[in-house]
Amino acid sequence: MATMYYEKDADPGLITRRKVAVIGFGSQGHAHALNLKESGVDVVVGLRDGSPRAKAASDAGLKVVDPATAAEWADVIMMLVPDQVQQGVYNDVIRPRLDPGDTLLFAHGFSIHFGFIEPPPDVDVAMVAPKGPGHLVRRQFVEGSGVPTLVAIHQDASGQTLDLALSYAHGIGGTRGGVIRTTFQEETETDLFGEQVILCGGIDAMIQAAFETLTEAGYEPEMAYFEVLHELKLIVDLLWEGGIEWMRHSVSDTAEYGDITRGPRIVNADTKEAMREILSEIQSGAFAREWMAEYSAGAPNLAAARQEIATHPVETTGRELRDMMTFMTPKTPEDDI
Ligand code: NAD
Ligand code: MG
Repeated sequence: MATMYYEKDADPGLITRRKVAVIGFGSQGHAHALNLKESGVDVVVGLRDGSPRAKAASDAGLKVVDPATAAEWADVIMMLVPDQVQQGVYNDVIRPRLDPGDTLLFAHGFSIHFGFIEPPPDVDVAMVAPKGPGHLVRRQFVEGSGVPTLVAIHQDASGQTLDLALSYAHGIGGTRGGVIRTTFQEETETDLFGEQVILCGGIDAMIQAAFETLTEAGYEPEMAYFEVLHELKLIVDLLWEGGIEWMRHSVSDTAEYGDITRGPRIVNADTKEAMREILSEIQSGAFAREWMAEYSAGAPNLAAARQEIATHPVETTGRELRDMMTFMTPKTPEDDI
């Protein structure tokens, strides 16, 4: 069983006695910086000169400086720039300003676990990773609850790293939701596996294939959209509330019989073999190296895929339908926080 920590296990005073720099003000960065500030923590946000996020951060009442000034001033540095950018920011800006006894924090283990960042041995290195998107980390904190959070220790030079990490987790609301102890390896490998085979990759591929199958057979795209994308949320909510048993209990017996007889034909032994291959590419570091090489080359495959999905019929159909749904506020990438 994993070790769990709650409010009583954290000393909120540890983090308030430190100087915290949050580098980046994106999804996670804005939530961490604002929650810490409201928990009484001395926090600055480190952003590049001309960052489009600087105005949002200072409008929110936060002190904004360039990443070098933030790293120089702070003795706790939370790296919340995108994973593929962290190595460059660390080498250019953070590493020259790390002092013995400083604490380097991450919200995902990618850079440390795959060796893109190798901090000096006299620095504490830990992870405080909310298991949810930044806007939820912020919203739940404001509402008085918190997103379940992972902590892991990579380097414990001071002997106090876990206590400091728990205090930071307390400051962002994580101990309200429960903090799970893990390792950089476990968090990184399971996180990548989850997003590749099911949460993002698996589901996205399945939606597109199912939509294409229906529309190629002559069914209306609007019907196909509702069936293969819109209704997914209702099913995921049931799974989230009560697992597979509760979902199967809640759908019709017809749906349940279709589930048990047809599901295993879609996800079969070959699919599971592909999952094992994907897992071993993650474990070997092959995926991490491939992604860093893609990013270094200007991310051409990512750009092409973004272009391609924008014009896929499941997206063009979905956009029109969502605009007519009065019960929700449709989102596009331009609506980012
Ligand atoms: P993001 O893309 O939302 O935000 C990145 C921020 O970094 C932005 O403010 C951007 O302006 C800034 N930035 C980009 N390049 C920079 C540079 N060269 N120098 C300084 N600032 C720069 O990123 P995110 O999704 O918040 O991810 C941050 C970390 O949190 C990652 O390690 C990620 O894996 C982790 N994480 C994210 C989520 C999530 O829901 N998004 C959840 C858990 C963990
Ligand atoms: Mg994840």
